[in-house]
Amino acid sequence: MTKIAMKTPLVEMDGDEMTRIIWQMIKDELICPFVDLQTEYYDLGLENREATADQVTVDSAEATKRLGVAVKCATITPNAARVDEYHLSQMWKSPNGTIRAILDGTVFRAPIVVKGIEPYVRTWTKPITIARHAYGDVYKNTELRIPAPGKVELVYTPADGGEEIRATVQEFDQPGIAQGIHNLDASIGSFARASFEYALSTGQDIWFASKDTISKTYDHRFKDIFQEIFDNEYRQRFEEAGITYFYTLIDDAVARVIRSEGGFIWACKNYDGDVMSDMLSTAFGSLAMMTSVLVSPHGYYEYEAAHGTVQRHYYKHLAGEETSTNSVATIFAWSGALRKRGELDELPELVAFADRLERATVDTIESGLMTGDLAAITTMENPTKVNTRDFILAVAERLR
Ligand code: NAP
Ligand code: MG
Repeated sequence: MTKIAMKTPLVEMDGDEMTRIIWQMIKDELICPFVDLQTEYYDLGLENREATADQVTVDSAEATKRLGVAVKCATITPNAARVDEYHLSQMWKSPNGTIRAILDGTVFRAPIVVKGIEPYVRTWTKPITIARHAYGDVYKNTELRIPAPGKVELVYTPADGGEEIRATVQEFDQPGIAQGIHNLDASIGSFARASFEYALSTGQDIWFASKDTISKTYDHRFKDIFQEIFDNEYRQRFEEAGITYFYTLIDDAVARVIRSEGGFIWACKNYDGDVMSDMLSTAFGSLAMMTSVLVSPHGYYEYEAAHGTVQRHYYKHLAGEETSTNSVATIFAWSGALRKRGELDELPELVAFADRLERATVDTIESGLMTGDLAAITTMENPTKVNTRDFILAVAERLR
């Protein structure tokens, strides 16, 4: 069998624990037998981040700017326990945070919909993708406890020595609390562009919602920036692609999402995205069936699974016990990256292979063969629960 050729390598970001084991199996069984795989390899495993003083993470993000498309394995974000476990010289930052800061991206999360794993909402027949703004608002706030009566104000002091602007938050006549938050026009603009680009690249409508009727300056600014960028840069391209941009209030959006059949992108402010993405992933079935892609407004893409390194399963694996870890989101990270590479390089065979890999994965589950996490929630009668490797081998068999 001749293998499918590639033109430009993918940036490959290897990771940790159980997902690192799955990573190798996917390459060996599902990709390399079919594709003449070319990658620029970066080992983001915690040992190598320690050995390179985390330079490898920065290098992998820079490589993504150069090559355009990356696929990332889940990685450990060190905490105090990990510092001891891996004898770390410092508590290295979250690789995802570092990569996001360099690529200036928005994170898109979409569930993988299969028959037999039914969403809790009956009308949802297509996936709903959340686009979450990842800068500012309550995640970068300043807050105070107000101990006793007194005045709280917002004060803006211009850097050029111009006139101060003041606004009263509250004249407190008793103890309470107060909070200051901010955002940046440039960051909101990046969020809007990444969202519109993603809608175009996936051919889906996009919704955006905020609370502009109540927050007449802050949330309204989000609404205005989205509308301005849409009118100036995207209206025409959306018309050509036959997709739409739709703005509504956040509470109206929530009601419409529940009544919808899915199949659109829901752009959310930072806090809304945090809360709603957990609601959606649970309502669609399982975190192990959720894909995640970081899209930058400059057109860089980084694909990954939404879940972590599945530490508990890894320790079972190390103890020689059988594991039944779900590899679907990691398989889809690879297929997503290969498809995007194929589109950018005009390689229809590579795009078709990505489609086939996803089809084979979904068909395997729909035939009744699945890992333990899905076997526990499926509506199918008598599912066959398989171990980590056997699931991947079953997908490989179908691909052939
Ligand atoms: P996790 O790896 O997402 O796993 C939490 C639990 O969810 C697992 O113990 C398992 O439940 C279930 N689960 C998640 N993915 C699964 C899969 N593919 N197949 C089957 N079950 C799955 O989160 P964690 O254990 O809290 O975190 C482990 C490490 O991952 C941490 O060091 C964290 O820093 C890192 N992390 C990385 C990323 C990333 O790189 N994007 C994201 C999140 C967390 P059961 O044990 O009940 O089977
Ligand atoms: Mg959350």
